[in-house]
Amino acid sequence: MSIKVITESCNGCGDCVSVCPYEAIMVEKEKAQIDLDKCTLCGACVPECPLGAIVIKKGISKEKPSDYFGVMIFGETIDNGVHKVVYELLSKGRELADKLKVELSVSFIGDDIFPPDNKMVDGVIKRGADKVYILRNKAFKEFLVEPYTDALVYLIEEYKPEIVLAGATSEGRSLLPRVAARLETGLTADCTGLDINEDGLLVQTRPAFGGNIMAKIICEHKRPQMATVRYKVMEEALEKERNGDVIIDEFEPKPHKTRFLKKKIDQTQKVNLEDADIIVSGGRGLQDPKNFSLLQELANLLGAALGSSRPPVDDDWIPYSHQVGQTGKTVRPKIYIACGISGSIQHLAGMSSSDYIIAINKDPDAPIFNIADLGIVGDLFEVVPELMKRIKNGK
Ligand SMILES: Cc1cc2nc3c(=O)[nH]c(=O)nc-3n(C[C@H](O)[C@H](O)[C@H](O)COP(=O)(O)OP(=O)(O)OC[C@H]3O[C@@H](n4cnc5c(N)ncnc54)[C@H](O)[C@@H]3O)c2cc1C
Repeated sequence: MSIKVITESCNGCGDCVSVCPYEAIMVEKEKAQIDLDKCTLCGACVPECPLGAIVIKKGISKEKPSDYFGVMIFGETIDNGVHKVVYELLSKGRELADKLKVELSVSFIGDDIFPPDNKMVDGVIKRGADKVYILRNKAFKEFLVEPYTDALVYLIEEYKPEIVLAGATSEGRSLLPRVAARLETGLTADCTGLDINEDGLLVQTRPAFGGNIMAKIICEHKRPQMATVRYKVMEEALEKERNGDVIIDEFEPKPHKTRFLKKKIDQTQKVNLEDADIIVSGGRGLQDPKNFSLLQELANLLGAALGSSRPPVDDDWIPYSHQVGQTGKTVRPKIYIACGISGSIQHLAGMSSSDYIIAINKDPDAPIFNIADLGIVGDLFEVVPELMKRIKNGK
């Protein structure tokens, strides 16, 4: 579907502006203008226009699914390097592309990515990409969702991949829905599994209904099939000597209102949660925000990152960036120490793939003990200080 103002018919009365629930319409130079980033195509404005100047076109685009080929990965970058989620997507993307017998590509959007001696480009080719698309413009220096949406839409319309994947990171989660809406195609967010079925369609698996079922979703009629994939649920692709093509393109995004001012780093997280080998996590059993300092002390001793279940985040005891679980981060550390966490299905969804799980809980029936490799039944305010004493004594 698409929406359009027939400018010759519009007299700028503004009736549509007042009914739009998404504040997506403004009147400029006596003509209504629709901000497509905000418009959800709900259609509230259409009957309101006395001149019939707003139309929603229904129907399928002229392009058929068979016009699309290949798997494209959004090349998310972080601190001037490739985000590791891209390496995970490359291992899965390679598998999907091989099943479909098509090419795998990575698209980088940025202002200063220079092949062929660029490590990022070389790295993704060695990990499985056949092609690397680079879209350059100074507007892409920092991630801003509006110009990046323009850029990714341009790349998809130009190169027509049948599948587009991105990490379910903050960037991927904000970018892909906008791109999918612009392209009028489907998107499955937060996938934990991807495969190709006998009809050559992408089967996108993700937890649904609070993690009680694993839904398998397909996008049959629209292209591309789009998915964001959770970080740390798939293995990273390994480097091999191989070659690939690099295609550099220039693109001018349209002017947008949002400007980049500065990046604010979460100073409370000394070790990145998703990359940590050890995580010490606290739950509602900590009883008070100040008790996170006890867990921080244990984390510092172990060189660990500090995690949390959702209630302490909801109660503002600790920032959201620490939350582990279905609506937080997925982690896979070597050791996960859960302190005062009951082990709800939503929490387990984010940490059950940890190599070794240690649970400290005063309730012997707490569900966390069902998945723990080592369970300590006791009061965390006694167990944690004792643990620290023993670590300090080298035991
Ligand atoms: C759609 C949805 C998404 C969600 N997403 C997430 C998510 O991403 N992550 C998440 O964690 N939750 C999530 N939740 C919430 C989830 O359902 C649980 O409510 C939450 O995980 C419980 O957190 P908790 O274990 O810290 O608290 P509780 O379940 O209240 O458990 C506290 C535990 O601490 C123990 N305890 C108390 N005092 C002590 C002590 N002194 N020493 C030792 N143990 C003690 C208790 O025995 C108890 O087992 C989500 C819920 C929904 C509906």
